[in-house]
Amino acid sequence: YTRYASEFEEIGALGKGGFGSVFQCRNALDKRDYAIKKVLIRCDAKLPQIEFSRRLKRTLREVKSLASLDHSNIVRYYTAWLELEQANHNDNNHSVTSTSQRYILYIQMQFCSQKTLADFLSNEEARKGPSGSSIGGVDIPYALNLFLQTCQGVKHVHTQCLIHRDLKPNNVFIDDTGAVKVGDFGLSRESSDNSGESEAETALTGAENYSYNGDITAGVGTRSYASPEQMKGGSDYDSSTDIYSLGIILFELCFPMYTGMERNIVLTKLRNHILPDQWMESVAVDFPKLHTLLLSMISNKPEDRPDAAAVVRTVQSILEGFTISSLDRRDYE
Ligand code: ATP
Ligand code: MG
Ligand code: MG
Repeated sequence: YTRYASEFEEIGALGKGGFGSVFQCRNALDKRDYAIKKVLIRCDAKLPQIEFSRRLKRTLREVKSLASLDHSNIVRYYTAWLELEQANHNDNNHSVTSTSQRYILYIQMQFCSQKTLADFLSNEEARKGPSGSSIGGVDIPYALNLFLQTCQGVKHVHTQCLIHRDLKPNNVFIDDTGAVKVGDFGLSRESSDNSGESEAETALTGAENYSYNGDITAGVGTRSYASPEQMKGGSDYDSSTDIYSLGIILFELCFPMYTGMERNIVLTKLRNHILPDQWMESVAVDFPKLHTLLLSMISNKPEDRPDAAAVVRTVQSILEGFTISSLDRRDYE
């Protein structure tokens, strides 16, 4: 008996990420579709069993706390559970095998449309927005509306004393009505790219590296959204780490970059608070409050960043006076 096998029918794979694969699954009882993320967890030979169980429990507890989130801009999390895999698996890793236990962490969540902010960013037509009027190829109020919804979701996460930890465009879903849902929370203290982790903080040392498919062409890769303190590894960060990531997303939403190379260069400079001339001459002039907000969000000092509620208020005030046609149904594929 396994809960997964008996209660769900696997419809298809949705994709693999840094540390898990996601499947579209139909529940046998309610006949509805869910997205279920499977994270393979393997006990590391170097890690004492007791410590492993402790970390496992903590992770499960954290993932379960996601079920307390209930907001229209957050992907609904239903539950999470662990299943122990039988030990007779084919495993190339000879040092661990036979005695090792493999757990699979299952995270059941709302099944979302397959469109994300990343798709929006890579679609030039979409970025011109419903109005078609744009600054350098972007309908700023439209982009800001998507951003506002993202921030409202993150604000809810923070009011529940949770941290997202992995905010980036491909983790923000947009449905056909233009509604935004933030999903795919980063598991606590577990690095998704296996770099810069300090030993003590690798929560699940045995988490299998499903072939890391980071954004290689972009160079800085998926780490371009992580705050400086989070990139250092360790657990010494708080909810303001999400604000930093939102800052990078805000910039990217308002400033199109056309190649991985350009993106790499511009985002690296941005992290050092150097903005492109085109930004300084257009967005910074037309939307000075937006420019100031951006700089505060990506401050290297976490305590200098505004909290999510303040970001929401500022974006709302920038948007005042604009008629946002963004909630019109618009298909940009
Ligand atoms: P990363 O791990 O760096 O976030 P990723 O987003 O590509 O990379 P996953 O988060 O593991 O990888 O997700 C794999 C795929 O599953 C992605 O295509 C993602 O859009 C999709 N996915 C994740 N959560 C959901 C969901 N709730 N509903 C529908 N699709 C989802
Ligand atoms: Mg993801
Ligand atoms: Mg992910």
